[in-house]
Amino acid sequence: MRTRPATTGAVGRWRALIALTVMAVAAMVLTTTISSAFAATRLQGRLIQGGLVIGTTTPGSTVTLDGRAVRVGLDGRFVFGFNRDATAAALAITAPDGTVERRQLSVEARGYDIQRIDGLPPKTVSPPPEVLARIRRESAQIKAARMQDTPVPYFKTGFKWPARGRISGVYGSQRVLNGKPSRPHYGIDVAAPVGTPVAAPADGVVRLAEPDLFYSGGTIILDHGHGLSSTFLHMATVEVQPGDQLRQGDRLGTIGATGRATGPHLDWRINWFDQRLDAGLLVPPMP
Ligand SMILES: [Zn+2]
Repeated sequence: MRTRPATTGAVGRWRALIALTVMAVAAMVLTTTISSAFAATRLQGRLIQGGLVIGTTTPGSTVTLDGRAVRVGLDGRFVFGFNRDATAAALAITAPDGTVERRQLSVEARGYDIQRIDGLPPKTVSPPPEVLARIRRESAQIKAARMQDTPVPYFKTGFKWPARGRISGVYGSQRVLNGKPSRPHYGIDVAAPVGTPVAAPADGVVRLAEPDLFYSGGTIILDHGHGLSSTFLHMATVEVQPGDQLRQGDRLGTIGATGRATGPHLDWRINWFDQRLDAGLLVPPMP
């Protein structure tokens, strides 16, 4: 005959202790899962003026930058960028479970090439009304093309130089004429002979293809998705149409000096909606 061991009470206490331990571990795992919703957000790219940042977070999250909604892809990918004079930005990510992560981003300042030219004879040139109307119409057309928020992350191919040549102008540079600052230069200029081929720096869909705009001449805007776009100015030939889907490296046209250009070059600009980024930060140094 077996007798119940005298240790029954002890085993019961052990069982209770094990159960408590399991619950404690479960609680820890749960806490880790919640805090990993925070850790799930990753930012790639430099937090610098003109910089592009590519983030990934838990799919289904919502993201805002300075209160402005940022598209989050089905895979949790999102992009944003900083303009020439940005100093800080507030990023907020709301995970699908409702937890909110807030990050105050400080944006690295850059020194720009500023040229001061004084003693110039005063010059007041205002275009005639019909030219002014054309300029306004074209700038609205460009703005509309840049404001597209396409859900396809074409930008994930990364970026390559659209053309080879000598760098003759950089992002952020500015002239101050008789003490009056002129509009900064936002593109990167690649000087090369007329007819030099221009290729898509990343995948995208053509949103604007115009042979002759007043300022920028032959102009193409390529939508890389999520508000990110490339603009190509002063082209001799425009060989694509709005709606064309392009792969990185596909031919867009050729370098020219059309519109208001002093010589043949490609002016390549990158926008995140209305924010002007530095294309030069997206590619390795010109080979
Ligand atoms: Zn330029």
